[in-house]
Amino acid sequence: MPPIDFALMNPLRSARAGAPRGWPKRGSLLCDFKFYLEFALPNKKNFCYNGFMQNISPQKFFLYARKSTDVEDKQVRSIEDQITELRAYAKTEGLNIVEEFIEKQSAKIPGRPIFSEMTKRIEQGDANGILAWHPDRLARNSVDGGLLIFLLDSEKLAGLKFPTFWCENTSQGKFMLNIAFGQSKYYVDSLAENTKRGLRQKVRRGEYPSLAPIGYLNDSRTKTVVVNKKRASLIRKVFELYAQNNSRLEDISNFLAQHGIVSKGGKRFHRDRISFILSNPFYYGHFRYAGEIHEGKHQPVVSKKIFDKVQEVLKQRGKPKTKGKVEKPLVGLLRCNECGRMITAEIQKGHTYYRCTKKNIVCSQPYVREEELDRQLSSLIQKFSLRPDWAAGLRKKLEKDKVDTAQFSTAFVQESREKILAITTKLQRLLDGYLEQDIERETYRFEKSKLLSEKKSLEEQSTRLEQKRTGWLEPMSEWIKEAESLPKIAQESNLFEKKVATEKLFGSNLVLANREARLRAPSGEDSLGQNQWAALCAAHELALKKPSSFVLVYLYNHARTYFSKNF
Ligand SMILES: [Zn+2]
Repeated sequence: MPPIDFALMNPLRSARAGAPRGWPKRGSLLCDFKFYLEFALPNKKNFCYNGFMQNISPQKFFLYARKSTDVEDKQVRSIEDQITELRAYAKTEGLNIVEEFIEKQSAKIPGRPIFSEMTKRIEQGDANGILAWHPDRLARNSVDGGLLIFLLDSEKLAGLKFPTFWCENTSQGKFMLNIAFGQSKYYVDSLAENTKRGLRQKVRRGEYPSLAPIGYLNDSRTKTVVVNKKRASLIRKVFELYAQNNSRLEDISNFLAQHGIVSKGGKRFHRDRISFILSNPFYYGHFRYAGEIHEGKHQPVVSKKIFDKVQEVLKQRGKPKTKGKVEKPLVGLLRCNECGRMITAEIQKGHTYYRCTKKNIVCSQPYVREEELDRQLSSLIQKFSLRPDWAAGLRKKLEKDKVDTAQFSTAFVQESREKILAITTKLQRLLDGYLEQDIERETYRFEKSKLLSEKKSLEEQSTRLEQKRTGWLEPMSEWIKEAESLPKIAQESNLFEKKVATEKLFGSNLVLANREARLRAPSGEDSLGQNQWAALCAAHELALKKPSSFVLVYLYNHARTYFSKNF
């Protein structure tokens, strides 16, 4: 609190003998108030001094206790405590308490209902004194503080009593009271300022000042946000899954629920929450704060590339019409072979049947029971499973390639480094312009987020180029794991996992023809394209005629070609 110049407030300084001209009409409320403050108060002769507990008797008190859950009241005694102490104090001082008022609200801003009611009752004359623990219980803002002082001045209040604070209804008493109210206000003001300043500084350092999103943890020891490895890898999978554009938000929610990520109430996340997760820039290393994008210091969980892809898909898919229904897990997986409509499901007598929607068309395709479809999907998945001995062989070859791959740097890398440097300079200039007030705040924010996005893309591009020769190793190793797990998925009865697996294998090329799920005609190989799965499928056929070592080389080379081209 800044020092107060007491000399300036010397009551005798402005003592005069009469009210100056041009004052409000004598008798009006405003006149009375001003007269007290400016004239009568300092002039002892004219001052109608109602000595505490003298003019009005017997004095009636309202007891007022207040504590809010806000930060500024953290150190304050509990309401029960306040009441106990105040009752004891009233007893020893012989105060007549006519009613108790209890409030659980902050006094930062005017408009507390209980406080308002109490002051109204005082104006009506129901009591003429207030007993409270400390002035800061009564007011932390200038309006409420001013009202109390005015009630004292206009004699509606004969006095205020506090066990912790001396206050008589004299000029000195009111002066002290004013300071106490001012101090309470200063306390909340500076608290808010300090909190804001602290957050701003955190943001400037690239530290996220809020609760960490799913996949991260707030490390209370270092006050930073750190990656939660297990959950972060699930989030990464979710982004990858959604980027493929065959999953609905509900599917993602189911996927997370299967891995134990649910809402606080233990329910599946609502699709809005999923779409929020999928569009949170935090996951690629930036964060939003106060409407602005900032570069974070935390470790990203997904690449900007995949994040951008997900944004495209989110935009494309907009709001799906159908709600997620867990009891029909295979909906959206197949199309009708006859008319090309989607295959939907309905439940009859406890069984789920899948059929063509036949929307606006005549189509002769029959129903198929879920159990039958399940069996067919399992055998389809089985065709793409990786034998354990092949998996071991592929891993061995991959390990060798990893060792052989040397690091390298190219002209491209150098070029993007220079571009990044140029953007950093631009950002600095932009900030200078904004601080010099040459640029509007909106323009600044817009340009800043544009430059940051550009910079991030470049940074990634450069890392990508640097890792071009090693980048495919990890996805291929993941694929081996995935293909190896297919037999298990085929054998188990988790239809959602089967759907995910089939989508991965066939994309949207699966049709239902006369109760049979199969690849779209004309030829299976063509629909699959030249990917790693096609190679695996071909390897199974090759194995019937060729020795195992030959098949392994074939499979490895084809898969490697695919991964080094696509990652
Ligand atoms: Zn049809």
